Amino acid sequence: MEYKKNDTVTVTIEDIGIEGEGIGKIDGFTLFIKDAVMGDTVEAKIMKAKKHYAYARLEKVITPSPFRIEPKCSYYRQCGGCQIQALSYEKQLEFKNQKVRNNLLRIGGFSEELLDTVMEPVVGMEKPYHYRNKAQFPVGTDKEGNLITGFYANHSHTIISNTECYLGVTENKEILEAVLSYMKENKVTAYDEATGKGLVRHVLIRTGFTSGQIMVCVVINGKKLPAEEELIEKLCKLNEEKTEMKRKKITSISLSENTERTNVIMGKKIRTLWGDDTIQDTIHVRNCTDWSRTDRELTFAISPLSFYQVNPEQTEKLYSLALEYAGLTGMETVWDLYCGIGTISLFLAGQAGSVHGVEIIPQAIEDAKENAKRNGITNAEFSVGKAEEVLPAFYKAENAAGRKATADVIVVDPPRKGCDEKCLETMLQMAPEKIVYVSCDSATLARDLKILCDGGYELKMVRAVDQFAQTVHVETIVALHRTNS
Ligand code: SAH
Repeated sequence: MEYKKNDTVTVTIEDIGIEGEGIGKIDGFTLFIKDAVMGDTVEAKIMKAKKHYAYARLEKVITPSPFRIEPKCSYYRQCGGCQIQALSYEKQLEFKNQKVRNNLLRIGGFSEELLDTVMEPVVGMEKPYHYRNKAQFPVGTDKEGNLITGFYANHSHTIISNTECYLGVTENKEILEAVLSYMKENKVTAYDEATGKGLVRHVLIRTGFTSGQIMVCVVINGKKLPAEEELIEKLCKLNEEKTEMKRKKITSISLSENTERTNVIMGKKIRTLWGDDTIQDTIHVRNCTDWSRTDRELTFAISPLSFYQVNPEQTEKLYSLALEYAGLTGMETVWDLYCGIGTISLFLAGQAGSVHGVEIIPQAIEDAKENAKRNGITNAEFSVGKAEEVLPAFYKAENAAGRKATADVIVVDPPRKGCDEKCLETMLQMAPEKIVYVSCDSATLARDLKILCDGGYELKMVRAVDQFAQTVHVETIVALHRTNS
């Protein structure tokens, strides 16, 4: 049977796709239905049909799945932020664990038997809402010309006006309202992507969960805002009001200049308008068998352009696992590639001989150096540059000097695209005893692990850590050991 656009079908959902969509089959014909939950029987309308499969729109849930829950957010179907809010959290974790496993099987080429022995149970969150410490809100105008801010709709740049997000902190709403009210009173325009005109593009809000310090950075298509002091006044007023803000305080207000016609949110130039250039936050590493036991804590300064993990509760577990997987004794030479503001590096430094961090963003390396000083750590050094350039250059220079460039442990935590081949190649040449790979994309992780394992490493431990509840994203941490060949 063939189906065509606008046909209505009734189907039972049997699986979840990589984007979180429900997958069902009728006589071998596959239907991909966004927002349908595994176990639902649904009525759906076909939007785009091919010979053997079609994308359909969920029209009605006829029989709800036992795993279906009532989503908290009323915008969840339109918004591009969450994909699986209607799926129970327990099932979300199962889905993510399976996603990692499937990628390691299919892309990595690892066997079922090996994965059965090396995969440790997925690490879930205690409370899977309001966990994010960072949000970037686009600012625009609606059809009537009113200023709005909120979230991009699914696969588009249309802004849905909504300042209450169940993933972010509740203070964001008041801060955004203050920014919009300042814009209205001072006739400040919102940026329009279509024309490249207008001033305010995004508002970045980052909160230190332990320090209570909040950073507000307004991204503008220009150098200056009119009546900047009025924006400062409105935001500072929130610090005095007895509202959601009472436990927290805005301590840094800045502008980011982004005049490029681009999807990249932040511009490279930052100017602090009021308060500090950075906010601080404290991370505790914990005992991996009893998360409530703290082993050590370090405090970090974070500037607007630096990467900082978005889920503090889970970051602590992730870093604790990274330390456990590195298994240091106090003597080792360690490299931390893609080190950001030096978070993992500085925890490693407490248990190693020396640590060398590498990171592409100069401000992040400035933060990392400051963070080392702040925590009294003297055995960590940091370099700005691409991992795939800094590491090979070091290797070459050491060889030229007649020394052998070695490392005992290399930790990598690359962005979604994974490690560059040149970086992997140099890691293999340096032949550390252990490699710890932290990944936010299990497909590129699996691709890279295949290269490393073909080059003489053995997969020892794999663990999925849920940093992004309600979304399809999953973090994974892996330990590799050198085989004695
Ligand atoms: N380990 C850190 C940061 C991880 S995010 C933490 O846990 O906070 C990945 C980092 O890699 C980002 O800071 C990004 O700026 C950096 N990065 C991206 N491409 C890079 C490259 N080619 N070489 C080095 N760093 C890179």
